[in-house]
Amino acid sequence: MMLNTCDVLITNAAGVVIPKVGIVQTNIMIENGKIKALTKSTQSVQASRKINAEGKYVLPGIIDPHVHYGVYTPIEEAAKTESKSAAIGGVTTMMRMLRLYDRYENIEKHLRASEFTHHVDYSIHASILRPEQIGDIQYLKKNFGINSFKIYANLGHDVNHILMDIEPGTHETVEREVNISDQIISDIVQEASVRQSSVLVHAEDQVMCSRLQKQKQIRSELTGMKITSLRVWSECRPPSSEANAIAKVGAYAREFGSTIYFVHIGSGTALDSILTEREKGNSNLYTETCPHYLTHTSDFFDVIGKVVPPLRTKIDVQSMWFGLMNGIIDTVGSDHVANTLLIKRGQGDIWSARAGFPGIATLLPVLLCKGVNEGRINLERVAEVTSYNAARIFGLYPKKGTIEKGSDADVTIIDLDLLQKVTPEILQSYSDYSIYNGWELRGWPVFTIVRGRVIMENGHVDKNTCGYGEFVRTAA
Ligand SMILES: [Zn+2]
Repeated sequence: MMLNTCDVLITNAAGVVIPKVGIVQTNIMIENGKIKALTKSTQSVQASRKINAEGKYVLPGIIDPHVHYGVYTPIEEAAKTESKSAAIGGVTTMMRMLRLYDRYENIEKHLRASEFTHHVDYSIHASILRPEQIGDIQYLKKNFGINSFKIYANLGHDVNHILMDIEPGTHETVEREVNISDQIISDIVQEASVRQSSVLVHAEDQVMCSRLQKQKQIRSELTGMKITSLRVWSECRPPSSEANAIAKVGAYAREFGSTIYFVHIGSGTALDSILTEREKGNSNLYTETCPHYLTHTSDFFDVIGKVVPPLRTKIDVQSMWFGLMNGIIDTVGSDHVANTLLIKRGQGDIWSARAGFPGIATLLPVLLCKGVNEGRINLERVAEVTSYNAARIFGLYPKKGTIEKGSDADVTIIDLDLLQKVTPEILQSYSDYSIYNGWELRGWPVFTIVRGRVIMENGHVDKNTCGYGEFVRTAA
């Protein structure tokens, strides 16, 4: 009999989840960072390392398509802490939302600064914030294989301040004014279509948000009341504002035949608008939701729940689950923001609190606990929305997003029965809080394996894997 060798052999799993195939009983042979074979029998297999996955399921490595890090701490530090937290959450590829104010020549500095500090693989979505940067789309694609670009339709008028990514080697947060006109939106969508790139869209109507926020702020100043309610925040940035922006971008997308990915959709109204635009055709429209829109409403008692777009109602939460179940929603991204409680809270009111919170480590546990274990979605669906779809949309498939011969050996082994209480210590981010603090979640990753190397095992991240994570190109 021929002797069959490999580096890592994963055996005895309760099931291996292969997107579009199903849950399969198989062993996985890994060699040189790739899946070598899926095999029924392990009789003649010799492996340097065997992982007994008895009672556990194996998923394609989680891809988090929406991560902000490098905004409150420089990327060389943020990559260390946040990719560690990613590994805790079973994430094998994290996609960074990069915001630079100057031209993108400066991106090399960012890439070099974090070249040897990631535990897991990573790629970049580049934000286009000024007309001059539209010319950078081709530059980024050609030179760095970056093929996805973000539009902040929400920025303009009185709501035009946003933090950029910190200059590597420094520690000062950088706030800038950004005004995204209809002209810039249209030009980006057109240029991306020409270059066959995808456009990520933050869909909110800046005029509407600006007007409503001003009104509410003036009223709260007059009464002298300290506003802490997330409901007020939601009223300032209503779902109808999302619908306006979606319709606008949808029209440009049809005109140019573009691929648009709507980030962080959390309201039923926004979801309906995307469906309406999809029905009109001549464009590819994708939808991302975030874990917090599946678990929290604006009744959440704490300003740490301030996020853009805001948390909504119970009915919206149900709509998001419905969208996940029936395939309307394509991906779940964390919209992770690596800040700390002190920065986050500001003066403790809704106006001075910062938007965004950490979430990369809890993305998968939330889906396993609230989705799978509570019977809303199955594991096949989890694999689609956390890995396969993002890989397909952003050009990573079949290198990533699946478990098949020749693919990168990125796998996340999960224990659906493991019950853990969420604490900042468990999540191991730079952030010292979580909106899930104290929640008992059932269902956690127990192994995070990137290109055949074990990065996380039972909640412990291997220190020596810092720097193992590679930059992944999304363009051929
Ligand atoms: Zn974001």
